[in-house]
Amino acid sequence: MSSWKTYVSQTESLPALEQVAERYAVSITPAMEACIASEAPHDPIRQQFIPQAEELITHPDELADPIGDKLHSPLRGLVHRYPDRVLLTLTHTCPVYCRFCFRREVVGPNSHGAHKPLTEAELEAVCAYIAGDSNIWEVIFTGGDPLALSPQRLGHAVERLGTIAHVKILRWHTRVPVVAPSLITPTRIAALRASSKTPYVVIHSNHAKEWTDAARQACADLADAGIPLLAQSVLLRGINDTPQALEDLMRTLVENRVKPYYLHQGDLAPGTAHFRTSIAHGQSLMKGLRGHVSGLCQPTYILDIPGGHGKSPIGPEYLSMHAERMEVEDFRGKKHPYPRPYKER
Ligand SMILES: *Cc1c(COP(=O)(O)O)cnc(C)c1O
Ligand code: SF4
Repeated sequence: MSSWKTYVSQTESLPALEQVAERYAVSITPAMEACIASEAPHDPIRQQFIPQAEELITHPDELADPIGDKLHSPLRGLVHRYPDRVLLTLTHTCPVYCRFCFRREVVGPNSHGAHKPLTEAELEAVCAYIAGDSNIWEVIFTGGDPLALSPQRLGHAVERLGTIAHVKILRWHTRVPVVAPSLITPTRIAALRASSKTPYVVIHSNHAKEWTDAARQACADLADAGIPLLAQSVLLRGINDTPQALEDLMRTLVENRVKPYYLHQGDLAPGTAHFRTSIAHGQSLMKGLRGHVSGLCQPTYILDIPGGHGKSPIGPEYLSMHAERMEVEDFRGKKHPYPRPYKER
């Protein structure tokens, strides 16, 4: 757990980083350590997992609960913001701790009693809540990282939710296939399919360099089991915020049968300002991607609105409406007129 200290360079202050580690969980897996190419502070893997002194700086806009989960949590382990889907948190631990994590105040092994794994009784209460609301079509397992749980616990949760007729989709938000690919065993894959509900796995990945041979194999095993794979990435300054880094990431995902789903604007989590880019920069990156990369490689650029108001797409606009006419921009940036409709709808 303290192997991160071996990456601290001469120019950094170890006491400051120890202070960071006391405040926010730190962990990196052997698979990710093996990806760190150099001692260079700007290595994209190193920056994601090894603490930095900037984390001690909390800006006034930054919030302990940046996307307002607590406001929509009727029971421990459950967030119900949208009518047709809920988040279910079985655990608050992860194999790695991302330095920019939006739930950094609630994940980690040394967090207080409130963040203990969900007990059997609590899981039962959550399932009873879900069973009682027939609008709930999808259950999203989120983090902590649910795929790090034992196959027995996973299979149990899948079987229990399998008894609720109106739940159709079980979605898993995870970094495990990439950061701890050895956990993607046949028994864990079988656990995801322990009921007839349709599983989707959404992999959190931020850089092409994370894609080791073992990660590629883990995703192939999931895809071969018939599980659709999507990805979510966080736009991170100095890690993936160049046209080339973003293109490489998106192409790598698609080459591994993983469809890019969301590119997240960094949430206002405490001590993460050094990772955030401007939204204008994010939009210009999205335009570049649309301009010259396959449509398969296009995620939706998304902002989770602070205060618990949910997610909105914030990508560039291509269509402009004027009183007399409409105009649409092509992938080269050239504008074209588009006629007004003959009927208003
Ligand atoms: C992000 C999130 C979801 C999932 O949103 P999608 O747009 O369906 O991916 C669901 N519930 C909550 C509370 C969320 O924060
Ligand atoms: S894997 Fe997800 S929940 Fe865990 S530290 Fe990273 S961003 Fe946070």
